[in-house]
Amino acid sequence: MFVRRISVALLAAAAALTVGAGPAAAAPDQTPAPPTTRAWNPPSNLVQPLDEVWRHVESTYGNLYGFRNYGWDQVMANRGYINYCVRWDSSAPVTAALRDHIHAALSHQYAKWMNVMLENGQGWENWPYQTVPIRVVGWAVRDRSTLQWTDNSVDIYVNDINENAPQCARECGRFFNQNGDYSRCPGGASRHYDQSLWLTAGMGGGAGGDWGQRMGSEYFVNNLNSENIHIFLHEVGHTFGLDDFYDWTPTGVCCFLMKAGTASQITEFDAWMFRDWWRHLKSRYGL
Ligand SMILES: [Zn+2]
Repeated sequence: MFVRRISVALLAAAAALTVGAGPAAAAPDQTPAPPTTRAWNPPSNLVQPLDEVWRHVESTYGNLYGFRNYGWDQVMANRGYINYCVRWDSSAPVTAALRDHIHAALSHQYAKWMNVMLENGQGWENWPYQTVPIRVVGWAVRDRSTLQWTDNSVDIYVNDINENAPQCARECGRFFNQNGDYSRCPGGASRHYDQSLWLTAGMGGGAGGDWGQRMGSEYFVNNLNSENIHIFLHEVGHTFGLDDFYDWTPTGVCCFLMKAGTASQITEFDAWMFRDWWRHLKSRYGL
């Protein structure tokens, strides 16, 4: 199967770890967009399929409105950015240039989803951010010598193995600290990570959830210059709550990114599903 469906199970597992209310507020990183906002007005041909999708979500997600670690929650807790850990689950060497190229591609691809929330500079349904910067704060490897740079621009975690793969410190991870307490993170809260880009040698397909996105290291590296790294884009959709469509298709739409194998970029229908998630969750942020 093109993309393995594990996100829902992971979301459910993660929900059990959720404790307390939202993370402690951090200093604002961005000026919110002006209060002008785009009203909800999907194209008439998408009204029915969007309604079907949301009713399906409501009837199949076990903790839809109680879960507090969607990508939306992470962006809002940070006030407008996402921090990453790269889990380099490979023995292939990484130069400083490749490290920076991976960061650039990550930013470029992520922006495709974030830009969906704006129309002519106005946020849909009170979406407050003009941009959502992506910061890579850490790299996790088995062997330090795999990473061929000596500067200290990112924190490096060596041989901290979880799920049989290198991982940045749990004390710094949002998945493990959903109360927002990063006081035990060596680099402090500023070096916490919200999501992991987990790149595994020899892996086909991908997986995504509130913890981040996983796919083949060769696939990601070989597609750094691709306009759409479509497996990554699909998995980010899961990070923000979007579902798979393996066993049904909404009325009147055939081909879109979240229906794996039918599109290789974010389509108008994907964009409206994404906005619909925000529309249904934004009240938890007082918006
Ligand atoms: Zn999927």
